[in-house]
Amino acid sequence: MYKKLSRFAARHVGKRYLELGKQRGVVSFSFDDVPASACQLGVEVLDRYQAKGTFYVCGGLTNGIEQSQACHSVQDLQYLSANGHEIGCHTFSHTNCANASLAALKIDWQRNRDFFSQHQLPQTGFAFPFGAYDLPSKIAAARLFPYSRITGGGTQIGRADLHALRAQALYAQSTDADTILELMQQTATEGGWLIFYSHEVSSNPGPWGTTPEQLESALRIAKQLGCEVLPVAQAIDFFKS
Ligand SMILES: [Zn+2]
Repeated sequence: MYKKLSRFAARHVGKRYLELGKQRGVVSFSFDDVPASACQLGVEVLDRYQAKGTFYVCGGLTNGIEQSQACHSVQDLQYLSANGHEIGCHTFSHTNCANASLAALKIDWQRNRDFFSQHQLPQTGFAFPFGAYDLPSKIAAARLFPYSRITGGGTQIGRADLHALRAQALYAQSTDADTILELMQQTATEGGWLIFYSHEVSSNPGPWGTTPEQLESALRIAKQLGCEVLPVAQAIDFFKS
């Protein structure tokens, strides 16, 4: 019961609104955990559209294996950063922020910050692992990061909570083409902000990954509808300008 109340409170308290409603909609593409395939095949597809993405990194996964797939290397991250992509924090240990103690969470965030500094990677915003947060972790993240991204699905119209930015899964196995098109049309028409998130980019992805075809199709539609395609931090600057 406490958790439920806390989740309810987290959604409705501690907000800092970003006004949307520009003439153009914005679409952002983000990749959580950053499998090596997102840095390679994913970036290859983004490059075809002169688009930059946002990559949420856990230093604890660097050079590791996750879901039987290779994760990014430090060199991958440095390449992304040097080529205009955004690198954000995803905790060091892929921590569930709704379950961890605040003390443990702060240590984990600091560990990831140290990892970024050690490798000269500029850190921007934060994405909650599993999209899991509660009120204390939302407030603590708001003190450390300019923005926090959750999951939740759908697009954002009118305004967005900078400390709980909503994002839509881009998963080949479960996100159908009609959903993508409808969300994109709504975003373009109403000057909203649609943030996609995925993991690996592969011709044979698991349940939490996308294919190059699905990613390319989303990019093509975004451009056809006249949307800006921007990393999350740059999208915030766009809406503030
Ligand atoms: Zn994750």
